[in-house]
Amino acid sequence: MTTTVSREHTVEQKRVLATAIPGPRSAALQQRKTAAVSSGVSTGLPVYIERAAGGILVDVDGNQLIDFGSGIAVTTVGNAAPRVVERVTAQVADFTHTCFMVTPYEEYLEVAEALNELTPGDHEKRSALFNSGAEAVENAVKVARYFTGRQAVVALDHGYHGRTNLTMALTAKNMPYKQGFGPFANEIYRAPMSYPFRWPGGPADCAKESFDVFVSQVQTQVGAGNVAAVVMEPIQGEGGFIVPAPGFMKQVSEWCTDNGILLIADEVQTGFCRTGDWFASEHEGVVPDLITTAKGMAGGLPLAGVTGRAEMMDAVHGGGLGGTYGGNPVACASALGAIETMKEEDLCGRARQVEAIFLPRLRALAERFPQIGDIRGRGAMLAIELVNGPGDLTPNAALTAAVNKACHAEGLVTLTCGTYGNVFRFLPPLAAGDALLNEGLDIFEAAFAAAAG
Ligand SMILES: *Cc1c(COP(=O)(O)O)cnc(C)c1O
Repeated sequence: MTTTVSREHTVEQKRVLATAIPGPRSAALQQRKTAAVSSGVSTGLPVYIERAAGGILVDVDGNQLIDFGSGIAVTTVGNAAPRVVERVTAQVADFTHTCFMVTPYEEYLEVAEALNELTPGDHEKRSALFNSGAEAVENAVKVARYFTGRQAVVALDHGYHGRTNLTMALTAKNMPYKQGFGPFANEIYRAPMSYPFRWPGGPADCAKESFDVFVSQVQTQVGAGNVAAVVMEPIQGEGGFIVPAPGFMKQVSEWCTDNGILLIADEVQTGFCRTGDWFASEHEGVVPDLITTAKGMAGGLPLAGVTGRAEMMDAVHGGGLGGTYGGNPVACASALGAIETMKEEDLCGRARQVEAIFLPRLRALAERFPQIGDIRGRGAMLAIELVNGPGDLTPNAALTAAVNKACHAEGLVTLTCGTYGNVFRFLPPLAAGDALLNEGLDIFEAAFAAAAG
């Protein structure tokens, strides 16, 4: 039995400010939070959400906020997307859990088949499902070490891969991810990232030099023959939406192949239409050996995957991969609803439209304000990097935080990122219409002008 439940119509796709942000009810809840929840878990914008649909979040004080964050690139299909709600509702009534490793079910197979079909490359693939991006990355590393019989794993400067012990080790940034949480997993090595905006000689030199610097460092400090895998995000997420120089990822990929090293593309943030393709590796002309997915894949429910070459994924002994909840049937149903939405509504195409709406406005703003040092990203994964001013590339984290705070006060949910905390990022749901996106941009521009003025 399926019921069509759509909240798209119950939440009007418009911003409403009923109280100050946060309002009194949210403020009261935040007091309870302080008393009940570990302060290690912080809240960026403490308005408490009661309902959401499409690109609007409704809080307990009746405010309707425009969502430019998608819960960190998760609700790509929109919040409570109709096909997600429909499939999840039906599945939760049918059964909630068996553990795929005990008594399996078809929904898991359907998600694995979709991943094998949609990820880059037409070689034979296999997938395994997990609960979070970090868990997917950990399992990709397990597969790579098993298959190659090698131990070293290379991660990049500014990379982010999660908060578990192994993925903390893979993550570059100390605060807040690693500070005080060591010791970290060993046999993890860091290599330079191709970061055009901050390359010592500038972007042109970056394109020429970054691959050579990367290889030289790995060869001299680790030894290519010891490396099981290079883990890289095709566009770095938490590290600052850093887009490597054109060709960098392709060169790394070819060098990996030549040296018996697996390339793990961490597409947890970039995957599933976010950058205007199903996967950001496609744009680079790269077919990764293993690819990790999560976030946007399942429309808001926790689900993650590792997809890779059949001979690699099948090398591991039975029982070597898995977990109690990995590929939970309700999360799988949610992913199937999300993937169907992406296909039916051509959300890759929509991400490219989002880019076409945002980029001209960001460029016009950069003409007015020299604090915008760089504009980058692709599709609906865009960012600006803020600096002190012309010729002074010192990271301007204070301005970034001020703009963010001003957007929040106006009912626009925005996020920052970056190793230096000076990157303002845009991750709107792809269900948000043009009017909502432009209204959000109006608010952002006004906030920026007021803070930078
Ligand atoms: C968010 C993220 C992760 C971690 O995912 P969780 O679900 O939070 O564990 C890993 N890699 C990348 C690129 C991410 O953006």
